[in-house]
Amino acid sequence: MGKLSKPGPTSLGVVKHPAIGIRLPELFLPGILTAYKARNVAGDLMLSFGRETAPEQVIKAKPGVWEITRGHTGTSIKKYMTMGAREATKAGVTVEIEADHLIVIGSATAAVQRIAGYHAESHISPQELKKSLEYNKLAVDEAAATGVVGCFTTDTSDLFWLEADRLSAARVRKLFAERFKPTEARKLLARYGRKRTFKAPGGKQVSVSISGVRAMRLALKFQDSLKINAQIYRYCKRKLGRKPFSFEISLDETADMTDPKETLFYLTEWKALGLPCHYFAPNIGFGKRADFKGDMAALERRTRQHHAIAQGVSKALLSIHSGSGTTPYSGKGKGTYEALLAATGGELKYKISGVYFELLMEMLAALAPRSKGRKLYNEIFDAVLKLLKTEVRKGGPLAQPLLIEQLDKYDRQVKRNPRKKRDPRADFFRFNSYLALNMRDEAGKRYFRDALVKYVKGDQEFRSRFDEEVKALTLRLIDGLDFADNLG
Ligand SMILES: [Zn+2]
Repeated sequence: MGKLSKPGPTSLGVVKHPAIGIRLPELFLPGILTAYKARNVAGDLMLSFGRETAPEQVIKAKPGVWEITRGHTGTSIKKYMTMGAREATKAGVTVEIEADHLIVIGSATAAVQRIAGYHAESHISPQELKKSLEYNKLAVDEAAATGVVGCFTTDTSDLFWLEADRLSAARVRKLFAERFKPTEARKLLARYGRKRTFKAPGGKQVSVSISGVRAMRLALKFQDSLKINAQIYRYCKRKLGRKPFSFEISLDETADMTDPKETLFYLTEWKALGLPCHYFAPNIGFGKRADFKGDMAALERRTRQHHAIAQGVSKALLSIHSGSGTTPYSGKGKGTYEALLAATGGELKYKISGVYFELLMEMLAALAPRSKGRKLYNEIFDAVLKLLKTEVRKGGPLAQPLLIEQLDKYDRQVKRNPRKKRDPRADFFRFNSYLALNMRDEAGKRYFRDALVKYVKGDQEFRSRFDEEVKALTLRLIDGLDFADNLG
């Protein structure tokens, strides 16, 4: 821990910090690192393993071997990790390189559907589970081999047995008795049944109690998730040997919000397994790529509960996922950062990713109509629209109700106002523009990804304006959540 302020990659341990997805590290790193440096922030650089990045062999495979949604940035694990570490060292900035969202799930498409609010309730099959674990191990191997990874986040939301929430008490008792050995069951139940009180910021207190039946219900709901999470933790530990790393558990990719009792149960059981948790991500009611529009006082209240429990049980900080708002300029909506700061006393981790690519698209869309950058934007927009319309027509996996609604809305808007054509803020585009990065020609070239990097790097004027905007976006996050000088 003494080397914390040394430039380059490290494992931060439990420290408040921003975590930023570097989908196009070639283009986003300069602005992000300048902002980290300007505020003396040790921050996190990440990509999600379940969606955004993938092992090199997947990135390099022929088109069509894998789903378009898998590793959709076209940036491999090895590439973003080594590039992030190298550039941070050069810039004199301390960073943590994170393997984000190791998702245990049936398919990469199912993982992406969740972003659009579609949560399949079908349980993953034993074969799918085996395949998913093998894939995740391959990904962990590549991360470990870089020698710079400092944090792993797992997402086992797909392993929750949601049916448990709807069972009668009698049924819960019966199934619990069947699925847990008597000694294990006795020990588990001894951990619950009384009120637990935890300290919260500002001299406040949070009290939670879990009844015996509730504990049995939660045990059934989380049994598989806890088991697989522990397997992944132990695998990471084995791969990293003596190297320190932090471990983040996320439960957030669910249709419903996480109940504070679930946080208490999950972390208590995790601790009983003798395992550490440095960051914990409950679902606090945030939607992806949308400002928070709900009841601010209620958000603050539930965040305080999760925070106090995570601190009290595991000394963990909350990690806030789905941190991007409706536009690159809106944060997460007015008052949201303030509510989170009040609830956590400023001790939190906060993740954003998609918004940097949205910023790039917006800036290209604003260029003069005949310019090279604007033409590239037009091509990207048209290609994404075409791909999605084809997907809807064919009833493909991306053709979820939300997408169909967003496409209809876009058509209506353009009809009413032709100037809305190719609007970078059209919802269907904001939610799906990332697909352009993984469109490939017959030779396997990612022509839009390559063209974007070439254009931005080659146009000095645009490049410096873009770096400034990336820096400003990052500073809004750092300042909004009070992350400056986070190593003290
Ligand atoms: Zn998440």
